[in-house]
Amino acid sequence: MSKKDKKFISFSLAIKEILDDFSSDPKQYDLFAKVYSFLVGGKAVPGEEECPPMGIKYGGVWHQPENLKEKRFYNWHEFDDLLTQVFSSKLPSAQDIVKLYRMVMGLNAYIGSGPEKKAGIWVETEMEKYQCIQCGYCCLNLYDAFCTSAYEEDMVRWEEEGRWDILDYIVGTDLWISPRTGEEVTRCPWLRKLQNKDKYICRIHDTKPKHCRDYPKSKKHALRTGCKGFS
Ligand code: SF4
Ligand code: SF4
Repeated sequence: MSKKDKKFISFSLAIKEILDDFSSDPKQYDLFAKVYSFLVGGKAVPGEEECPPMGIKYGGVWHQPENLKEKRFYNWHEFDDLLTQVFSSKLPSAQDIVKLYRMVMGLNAYIGSGPEKKAGIWVETEMEKYQCIQCGYCCLNLYDAFCTSAYEEDMVRWEEEGRWDILDYIVGTDLWISPRTGEEVTRCPWLRKLQNKDKYICRIHDTKPKHCRDYPKSKKHALRTGCKGFS
């Protein structure tokens, strides 16, 4: 069996990852209900609220604080902000941050000391089970995989490498704009399907944008966005 892949993160980074998870996928009703009631107490259950006069129903979570009869509804749009408020008003204990991290990321994690002997969290990322099978799904289907912004470090690297072919497809830091039409492309210009195979390659693999290199960010990110690397 391959060695377990682990990473060490600070408590504040763990909180950031939790918040990022809800901001990139806010409609996690059950999970939000669990996390919110764990942090503030009371009872939280997923549900809906009907908004007059149109009668449109919004998904979210009903929360009943301890010792109060009145319930309050939180629309899924608010999840991210609510958690930010809770974390800024009172920082949970180290043990609670680990529990929350396990709950949200679905990974084993425990308190320990890191390379500089600072306390933080060791996370078993399970990325040792991941293997890209070059199915091309992310490049073809995840809009933010090919039409987003380049990081400053990408821009600097491409300039240093003299990759004017890549820079030609960028306006400002926007990826990928056709130099011919001035319009956003509908498919990444660097993606190629291998002849007679169901496999794809990235023609700029060695210098591809940071957000492509970072994909998938975690096992949860991979499973949520349809990456086949864990199958
Ligand atoms: S640059 Fe490469 S990895 Fe990124 S979307 Fe295009 S083909 Fe895929
Ligand atoms: S979806 Fe996952 S397995 Fe498929 S090409 Fe992208 S990273 Fe690789």
